[in-house]
Amino acid sequence: MIFNSIRWRLQAWHGVILATVLTGFGVTAYQVARENQLRSIDQDLGQQLDALFRPRPPEGRPEGPPPDRLPGGERGRPFPFEPGEFEQRLRQAVTEFGSSGGPYATLWQVNQGLIARSPGAPADLPEPREAFAQSPAEGGPGQRGFRPGPHSPQFARTRGQMREIAIPLPRGFVIVAGRSIADDQAAMRRLALWLLAAGMGIFLLGLAGGGWVAARAIRPIDAISATAQRISAGDLAQRINVADTDSELGRLAAVLNTTFARLESSFTQQARFTADASHELRTPVSVILTQTQTCLARERDPAEYKETLEACQRAAQRMRRLTESLLELARLDAGEEPLRRERFDLGRVARESAELIRPLAAQRKVTLETDLALAECTGDAEHIAQVVTNLLSNAIHYNREAGTVTLAVRQEGSQGVLRVSDTGCGIDREDQPHIFERFYRADKSRTRAEGRTGLGLAICKAIVDAHGGSIEVESQPGSGSTFTVRLPLAHG
Ligand code: ADP
Repeated sequence: MIFNSIRWRLQAWHGVILATVLTGFGVTAYQVARENQLRSIDQDLGQQLDALFRPRPPEGRPEGPPPDRLPGGERGRPFPFEPGEFEQRLRQAVTEFGSSGGPYATLWQVNQGLIARSPGAPADLPEPREAFAQSPAEGGPGQRGFRPGPHSPQFARTRGQMREIAIPLPRGFVIVAGRSIADDQAAMRRLALWLLAAGMGIFLLGLAGGGWVAARAIRPIDAISATAQRISAGDLAQRINVADTDSELGRLAAVLNTTFARLESSFTQQARFTADASHELRTPVSVILTQTQTCLARERDPAEYKETLEACQRAAQRMRRLTESLLELARLDAGEEPLRRERFDLGRVARESAELIRPLAAQRKVTLETDLALAECTGDAEHIAQVVTNLLSNAIHYNREAGTVTLAVRQEGSQGVLRVSDTGCGIDREDQPHIFERFYRADKSRTRAEGRTGLGLAICKAIVDAHGGSIEVESQPGSGSTFTVRLPLAHG
């Protein structure tokens, strides 16, 4: 579903937020403009009334500042007119107000209703009740009555196309003035249309921009998923090409690339291991098949049968060694090889292994020297003995005639360190990083012919790793090698 895509969700959210902001902004702008316009109309009407109701100076008196404003007088000062005169002046002012088609005014009195009107005043004016009460309108905004103005005793209302203000006066009088606001309403409608058009334009632009940004942001994800798909289809060499490595997605791509690289290398190793194992096992099987086929081709004397059987036995023994080594490695890999966790002295284990291998050294005319200190470690002494025996066997095997093998154990810091040095052929620099790999042989044809499995050092490394230790080699091609095993010392 398209709506499930992140890009469309981003787009939808962006659209909703944009629409909300624009609508909020547009409505507020319209309201503010409308309020301002109505306020200025109200002020205008108020000023017109104000000007008209200034009392004219009595006949013969010079034109000077008016003694007081008619509507309401000034707060705290005595009202200057007699009741009759006041009403008469009001009636006169109202009837003179405005002109036909322009502003109009009406005069109301409590309990009397409409008592005077200017020529242009409409006939159907409702009573200004709120102004009579001199109190704020009680109705809500929906009620089409007068609303009290913010700072004045002036009430205002919009009636269809008319705007009217009401001014409560002393003695129960109220003046209502108004005018048509058809033109102003048309201007407001134009403003609303403008705001709508501008809002739509900004909305569409924003949507397009947002879509572009979302598409750009999502593009690396497309690249990642396309690469992952190609990898899952079997092409493990694929890597994600993300130029922007500083962004979150760039860093994710870098992490994924590292993972893919490890995945590829582990797949390659697995495939090579399987191929190597099959190859190693095929050789003794071929030997057995060839030997038996040749032998069975015709009648043989007992010595020949014996010779054939011995060759088959050797091949079978080699297969057994190989399968046992493979099994051990597989168990160590899976963590299934039962490893004891007990204290043992690495020096003692080394001494016992050296004694075990001494006959082989003697047979090869290799001198075996030991320099063994106490080093208490925790782990499986039997498996560590297997490591020492493997290293000693290699040191003797790859040594020169009348060479020397030195076995040393000592404590270094928090580690028990075992070193096996020989005076043999050494290991070429390019081979050194690989000799702990499975089936890796520096001199392939020779060692295989000698019946060596190529798994010895791989097993050593797996055992040492399982003990939380490390194994490394230093070698001078032509003059000898030193293998160093480090194991954590037992605590306390
Ligand atoms: P292999 O059964 O072939 O000895 P290993 O895993 O024990 O297998 O050793 C891997 C390879 O490392 C050997 O084939 C050999 O080339 C090299 N190697 C191991 N130990 C030594 C050593 N002490 N001197 C020189 N080369 C060695």
